[in-house]
Amino acid sequence: MTVRVRFAPSPTGFVHIGSLRTALYNFLFAKKSGGKYILRIEDTDQTRLVEGAVEGMLNAMDWAGIHHDEGPFQEGDNVVQRGEYGPYVQSERLPLYKQFAEELLDSGHAYPCFCSKERLDDLRETQKIEGKITRYDGLCRSIPLEEARQRIEKGESHVIRMKLPTDVDISFEDIVRGKVTVNTNDMDDQVLMKADGYPTYHMAVVIDDHAMGITHVIRGEEWLPSTPKHIYLYHAFGWKAPEHVHLPNILNPDKKKLSKRQGDVAVEDFQKKGYLPEALVNYIALLGWSPEGNEEKMSMDEMVEKFSLERVSKSGAVFDVQKLNWMNSLY
Ligand code: GLU
Repeated sequence: MTVRVRFAPSPTGFVHIGSLRTALYNFLFAKKSGGKYILRIEDTDQTRLVEGAVEGMLNAMDWAGIHHDEGPFQEGDNVVQRGEYGPYVQSERLPLYKQFAEELLDSGHAYPCFCSKERLDDLRETQKIEGKITRYDGLCRSIPLEEARQRIEKGESHVIRMKLPTDVDISFEDIVRGKVTVNTNDMDDQVLMKADGYPTYHMAVVIDDHAMGITHVIRGEEWLPSTPKHIYLYHAFGWKAPEHVHLPNILNPDKKKLSKRQGDVAVEDFQKKGYLPEALVNYIALLGWSPEGNEEKMSMDEMVEKFSLERVSKSGAVFDVQKLNWMNSLY
């Protein structure tokens, strides 16, 4: 099996050093395994796009020496090209998601939902007042598909939701955390296709990871609650799910998730302050991974040589600017 991994940022702002670490671990794992590292821009939430974010991300990756191995390269691509390949861009792949949404409707794993924003807001309010978990109540589940298709044909606004079975355990094995199980009774009929015709993150990520032959999904732990939804989709399509690794958060000295309020968190900030890319990358690599022998100063090639997912830690690592400064002084 050839290892294929991806880094899949959403262009919603600056590049957080947590994202740099995710990219780096994917890159190190790919190189160590003789595999491929793919870059994919996840821009399906049109309301959150930030101008210049793709460019900023490509710059940061270039600066850090994390180069992707493949991508579409077409005349007229509207994304910035770097090196040999442009990254994959989800907004350029809409027909693919649409086609697979149709497949889920046909197989009964999804259904169109016509509920208005007002109804959903009311439902959420009532559930909150009653102390219940806020969740879609399944009203549109019972609309026959033929009838739903006619309403869509007439231009009625709708989304497509996954149709979860009742009381089924969904499990997967996380390489760092072990077995994770969630019951479908504790999950929501997640929206897969939005009213604007774009897929949600959940839909696009599964289709692309499958289409791109991704063998290992390595991402931040904030995505852990999303993974059972993805596993459901893999089952629904009859596809084999990739392996999963959820990385621990990078923390502030007070053990809370690293945030801009407490100091620099953007790769750009460190770049501007004159930190050496080799030093930042070296330091970031050690936040959550400890190589055998506990070496500290390592070149990219040495990190590739030593990297293993088994030595990625389950608990969060504290970002310490003093240590970063010390690392920078070694270069
Ligand atoms: N687009 C997601 C992000 O911005 C990627 C999550 C994933 O890797 O699946 O972090």
